[in-house]
Amino acid sequence: MVLVFAERSDDELYRQAVAFARGLAPDTVQAVEIDDGGAYSPDGAAAALANLIRERTPGAVVAPGSERGNEVLAHVAAQLDLPMAANCVSATPGDPLTLTRVRWGGSLLEEARLHGSPPLLTVAPHAVAADPDWIVPELIPAAAGRVKVSERVTSTTAGVSLADADVVVSGGRGVGSAEGFAVIEELAELLHAAVGCSRAVTSAGWRPHTDQVGQTGTKIAPSLYIACGISGATQHMAGCKGAKKLLAINPDREASIFASADYAVIGDLHEVVPAISAEIRSKRGG
Ligand SMILES: Cc1cc2nc3c(=O)[nH]c(=O)nc-3n(C[C@H](O)[C@H](O)[C@H](O)COP(=O)(O)OP(=O)(O)OC[C@H]3O[C@@H](n4cnc5c(N)ncnc54)[C@H](O)[C@@H]3O)c2cc1C
Repeated sequence: MVLVFAERSDDELYRQAVAFARGLAPDTVQAVEIDDGGAYSPDGAAAALANLIRERTPGAVVAPGSERGNEVLAHVAAQLDLPMAANCVSATPGDPLTLTRVRWGGSLLEEARLHGSPPLLTVAPHAVAADPDWIVPELIPAAAGRVKVSERVTSTTAGVSLADADVVVSGGRGVGSAEGFAVIEELAELLHAAVGCSRAVTSAGWRPHTDQVGQTGTKIAPSLYIACGISGATQHMAGCKGAKKLLAINPDREASIFASADYAVIGDLHEVVPAISAEIRSKRGG
C-alpha cells in the first residue's frame, strides 16, 4: 500500500501525487488529509502521519512537492529516521527504490537509489499528469506540535502578485540602491506589472524577500519578463525560465542573461527604463 499525504483534497498537486502513487502501487493507494484546524503545525501534522505509518506500514509515502508537502515529509523523516527524496519525477519500487528527481532549480535530473523503508517521496510539481480518478482523502486530526503561530503579518507587497503576474519588471544589483527602484516601480505600474528582484537585492536589504525571483525565491511564468541590471546567474534563471519572452537591460554585452534573452538592450537601466516609461506615456497621450 502507498500512503498519500494530501495538503488540500481539491488541489492539482495532490492529484498529481495520487497519479505518482498509483505508478508505485496501482491497486492499493490510500490518502489522508491532516486536520490542524487552520493552525500552521508541520511537526504536528508529521506526528499524526508518523503514527499512521507505524499502524499501517505502507510500502511508500508520497506527498505533493509543495512547500507544505516537502516540509511535513521532512519532519516525518526526522521523527521516524526514514529516508526522504524531494521533487521526484519517477520512481521504480524495489529494495532499494530507484528514482529520478529534479535538482538545482530544475537544471539537473538526478538518478538515485533510496535505502530504507518506507521511502518518503515528494512529487515535483507538474512532472506527472494529475489523476482524474483521484481519491477523497481520509481526514485525521493533527497531533500536538511544538510549532505555534505567534503572529500573522499581512504581506507588504501591494498590487499584482509576483507568481501570477503577466508582466514582471525586475531589478538586480545594477539598480544600485533601494531608491533606484523608483524607475522599476514606475515602469511596472505603467505595464500593470509586478516588481521582482534578484537575491543580490534582497541580500542588500533594498527589497523584501517576497520580491525575489529564483531558485530560493518565487518561480514566475509571465508573458514578458523585463530584467534590469541582472547578470543572469543560474539560480536567478531557475526562477524565470518559465517566462515566454525575456527583455534584458544591461551595459555588459558579455552578461550571461543575454544568452537567454529574446530582446537585449545594451545600456544603463537608469537611462533606458525611464525612456521606455516616457515612450509608453507619450503613446498613451499623457
Ligand atoms: C544556493 C543559492 C541560491 C540562490 N538563489 C538565488 C535566487 O533565488 N535568486 C537570485 O536572483 N539569486 C540567487 N542566488 C544568487 C546568484 O548566484 C547571484 O549571486 C545573484 O542572482 C546575482 O544578482 P544580480 O544579477 O542582481 O547581481 P550581479 O551578478 O552582481 O549582476 C549585476 C548586473 O548589473 C549590471 N549593471 C551594473 N550597472 C548597471 C546599470 N547601470 N544598468 C544596467 N545594468 C547594470 C552588471 O553589468 C551586472 O551584469 C543564489 C545563490 C546560491 C548560492
